[in-house]
Amino acid sequence: MIEVRNLYYAYKGEQYVLKGINFSMGEEIVALVGPNGSGKSTFAKHLNGLLKPTRGDVIIDGEDTRDRTVAELSRKVGYVFQNPEHMFFEESVFKEVAFGPKNLGKSEEEIEELVSWALKSVGLEGYEKRAPYSLSGGEKQRLAIACVLSMKPKYLVLDEPTTGLDAKAEKSVVKTIKELKKNGHGILLITHDMDLVLELAERVVLFYKGEKLYDGSVKEFFEISLEEYSLETPELLKLARKFNVGFVKSLDELMVAVSGDGT
Ligand code: ADP
Repeated sequence: MIEVRNLYYAYKGEQYVLKGINFSMGEEIVALVGPNGSGKSTFAKHLNGLLKPTRGDVIIDGEDTRDRTVAELSRKVGYVFQNPEHMFFEESVFKEVAFGPKNLGKSEEEIEELVSWALKSVGLEGYEKRAPYSLSGGEKQRLAIACVLSMKPKYLVLDEPTTGLDAKAEKSVVKTIKELKKNGHGILLITHDMDLVLELAERVVLFYKGEKLYDGSVKEFFEISLEEYSLETPELLKLARKFNVGFVKSLDELMVAVSGDGT
């Protein structure tokens, strides 16, 4: 369980950019949304201890992040940064994924096992010898996920995991995220992509100017007037409204609702 209690944070000498955030999550997919500068990344960096609260507490599976190092916390919360390809530096996919467990002092045998498990989890088995830079956009994103997965974290923070990807690559990443959730991971998905929220999220949290304005179901989230927060209503929901249909999650659902009987 991730528990955040009355979290305030100010960068050195600045005003508070997080103001009294209360939040908890378990093994679920939570989308964290909000305009640029609303505090999403600052918040997420508290979950793996990159930042420590100015006031309030962040508790990961019962442990206060103040009492743990980033290395220790990375075994609980894996953070996949935006544009992860800038972070690859090894000559092979195997070595890239092995880097984390190696630093944790795992044996050769354990490393082999962790790498092959992590690559399998993201659908990249057989890619061990490939050079990271030679992978496609979607493959690079999945490799980045494998790199944090190899530390066996229970929770994952994914920062804009589909930005800049084409439709096919996006599908492969979406499939991977669904698999991770099925396998018992809790996922915090930071995104501007409302289609992705509609497709993947089980719950949505909206930040605005450092405060949590909404935390609840996906259906009710899309009833908020999103344009006020520089967020776009998905085309699918705009279309559903034109047909006077309530909330739908896919084109198939919309077709069924419009035709009445699914034919
Ligand atoms: P988001 O992820 O929602 O775009 P951020 O958490 O990046 O928001 O930023 C929240 C606020 O904190 C912004 O006003 C931003 O300018 C400020 N901020 C972010 N990083 C730093 C930093 N390293 N030093 C000072 N201010 C920062």
